[in-house]
Amino acid sequence: MRWWGWGEDERAISLPPTAGDALRIELGMDGSERGVRVSLEEVELPDSGLTAAGRSALEQAVGAEHVLDDRAARVTHAVGKSFADLVQIRSGDGSSAPDAVVAPGSSAQVASVIAACAAHGVAVIPFGGGTSVVGGVAALRGPHRAAISLDLARMDRVIDLDGNSLTAALEPGVFGPALEGRLYTAGLTLGHFPQSFEFSTVGGWVATRSAGQASTGYGRIDELVESVRCVTPAGELHTREVPA
Ligand SMILES: Cc1cc2nc3c(=O)[nH]c(=O)nc-3n(C[C@H](O)[C@H](O)[C@H](O)COP(=O)(O)OP(=O)(O)OC[C@H]3O[C@@H](n4cnc5c(N)ncnc54)[C@H](O)[C@@H]3O)c2cc1C
Repeated sequence: MRWWGWGEDERAISLPPTAGDALRIELGMDGSERGVRVSLEEVELPDSGLTAAGRSALEQAVGAEHVLDDRAARVTHAVGKSFADLVQIRSGDGSSAPDAVVAPGSSAQVASVIAACAAHGVAVIPFGGGTSVVGGVAALRGPHRAAISLDLARMDRVIDLDGNSLTAALEPGVFGPALEGRLYTAGLTLGHFPQSFEFSTVGGWVATRSAGQASTGYGRIDELVESVRCVTPAGELHTREVPA
C-alpha cells in the first residue's frame, strides 16, 4: 500500500484526461490548486520516545527483525486513509507516526508485546490494513512515553475451517482476498465485502464492526463473529465458542 494514498504503485491506474476535465469543470477548478506531495524523506517524524530497555524487551518478544523503526515503516503506519489523513501525510506531517512498528507472529507474542509495553510505559495501537478513516491507527502517545504500531500482518492464517458448522478460526491479519480465496476452495464465502476489502483485515473488520455491500444479506461483521480471543494488558479475554 502506498504511504501517501490508496493502492499500489505496481498496479497504478490513472484518471483518463476526459474524467479530469469533467471534474475540473464540475468543481470550477483549473488544476493549479493541486498541492505538492512531499517525498518520503521530507516527512517530519518525531524523535523516538522508546528507551533502549523498552526496545530490547520488544525485540525479545518478537525477534529483532520484527521491530522496525526505519522511516518507511514509521510513515506507513502514521495515518489511515481518510481525506484528512492523506492531506496530513502528503504535506509532510508525520507527527502521528509510531516510534516503532512491531509485528508479532503468534498470540503468545502479542501477549509478550503487551506485557513489555505495559512495563515500559508504551502505548499500543493495533494495525491491520491501515484503512481506518476515523484516525484509528494514528499512533498518538497520550500520557505514554512512546507508542508502537502493532502490525498484525504476519498473523494471517486460516487456522481451521469447519464445513459442517460453517465456522472458521482466523488469525487477525488475514486480508480479504486471501480469506475469500481460501474459503472459495471449500465452496464457501464469508459474504463480507467492505469497499476496502482488498486492503483490510479480519481483525480490522471486527474491531470496527464493519459493513460491506453484501451485508444486507449476510449481516454485518458482528453478526458473523461467533467468538473472539483478545489479548489485553489485564490478561486474555476468550468468549465462548459456538456451536459448543
Ligand atoms: C476506500 C475505503 C473504503 C472503505 N469502505 C468501507 C466499507 O465499505 N465498510 C466499512 O465498514 N468500512 C469501510 N472503510 C473503513 C475501513 O476500511 C474499515 O474500518 C476496515 O474494517 C478497517 O480494517 P483494517 O484492517 O484496515 O483496520 P485498520 O485500519 O488497520 O484498523 C482499524 C481500527 O481497528 C483496530 N484494529 C485493527 N486490527 C485489530 C486487531 N486485530 N485487534 C484489535 N484492534 C484492531 C486499529 O487499532 C484501528 O483502531 C473504508 C475505508 C476506505 C479507505
